[in-house]
Amino acid sequence: MHRSAIAAALLLLTACEPVPQDPVRVRALVLSGNGSYVTQEVTLNTITDIIHMEGSVAKLIGGARIVLDSADPELQVPTLTEEGFANALIKSDGRPVTANWIEQDGVLWPADFHTWNLATTYYNFEKAREYFNTVGNIPQADFGKDPATVYYFADFTLKDSNPEPIKDNALWFAPTQSFMVVPFDELQKAPLAINSGVMAHEYSHMIFNLKVYGSRRLPPPITEWGAVGTSPGANLIKALDEGLADYHGYGVTCKSATGCDPRFLRTSFEDKLSNDRDLSKSDRCMDLGLRNSLQNSGLGTFSGQGLEYKLGSILASALYQAGESTGQREVLMRAIVSAYSDETANNPGLKQLISLVGSNQTDFNLTSVSAVFIKHVTDVPLKTALCNELIDHLQVPAADLVGPGLPCPAAAQGGNTCTRINP
Ligand SMILES: [Zn+2]
Repeated sequence: MHRSAIAAALLLLTACEPVPQDPVRVRALVLSGNGSYVTQEVTLNTITDIIHMEGSVAKLIGGARIVLDSADPELQVPTLTEEGFANALIKSDGRPVTANWIEQDGVLWPADFHTWNLATTYYNFEKAREYFNTVGNIPQADFGKDPATVYYFADFTLKDSNPEPIKDNALWFAPTQSFMVVPFDELQKAPLAINSGVMAHEYSHMIFNLKVYGSRRLPPPITEWGAVGTSPGANLIKALDEGLADYHGYGVTCKSATGCDPRFLRTSFEDKLSNDRDLSKSDRCMDLGLRNSLQNSGLGTFSGQGLEYKLGSILASALYQAGESTGQREVLMRAIVSAYSDETANNPGLKQLISLVGSNQTDFNLTSVSAVFIKHVTDVPLKTALCNELIDHLQVPAADLVGPGLPCPAAAQGGNTCTRINP
């Protein structure tokens, strides 16, 4: 081949093919078997710019300022689009972070505190993405061509609830379609960004937004269902989002060297919260008070009491029990992700159920949501176990799920861990 033809062919190749990235070996902070974080060599497989911490999975942006204030004049424009809304919140775009490294025998060591945090943060995003790709079976293309934006040490204020910027948190923020890792202040335990389970919890919110809400910045089940005085559908979907985030956060810990950790919050939060969200607790049950709040309160009241976490934990531990008791943990995790969105006739996913329900949010309820999950499990013993756990812990009437034409096998009649509160 003529030399210029070779050059042209090579150019064509670089233009069309994604350049395979060499893995980068770095030191990061990883949970060890004795429950503390230690420095460990890890491989970043997707990073393209190790100084500015950007790769196909995430790009880390420092110095951004984001303010949500309902009195903000920029939000009072009647024709504001969802994107315009997001842009109005971002008061300062920030810039790529700068990491400092010391190379030693082919391994990059963070040279300052922030670089330790950045390396670990990126690594945790890679692990979460890998889980949803391999266990969750989400094709790479579905994640989009752009990396997720992570506002690192963002100055993030939710003015209506607190005039001061948020501290000690890590979160997915749908309006800007980005993650935030905010500064530490009083947190006595491991910073959230280094807790792989916590970051996977946040990543799960992004996946839920992508699949169930179609990447909407202001998802209608929250903004429309949640705007009425009694919002059972909005309350339930908030609880699903939280419970499934804990469930998948747990799933990511199963891929770590230290193994499955149903109490992955314990290294970052105090005992009460870690216990309340421990997935392995098998005695969590829907009670009359919680069911009454779910069905009869508005989203503000429901969330104001943190009930989305309480209900979410009941769901998460029911899923945990079904997967562990049958030895089919990953099969169930994959089935649950497949139930987020499914265009197949007669087998709607959550996204399709939302459309079917329309403005009648009472039809987005424990029975219809349980049916969506159950119908996405094919293995009969696993399906039966899932039916039993959901009927038992969520207190769904067995007659709504078991019977001719209904999703549960006749063998499923519900467990007996919880005292029945039906009807
Ligand atoms: Zn959450």
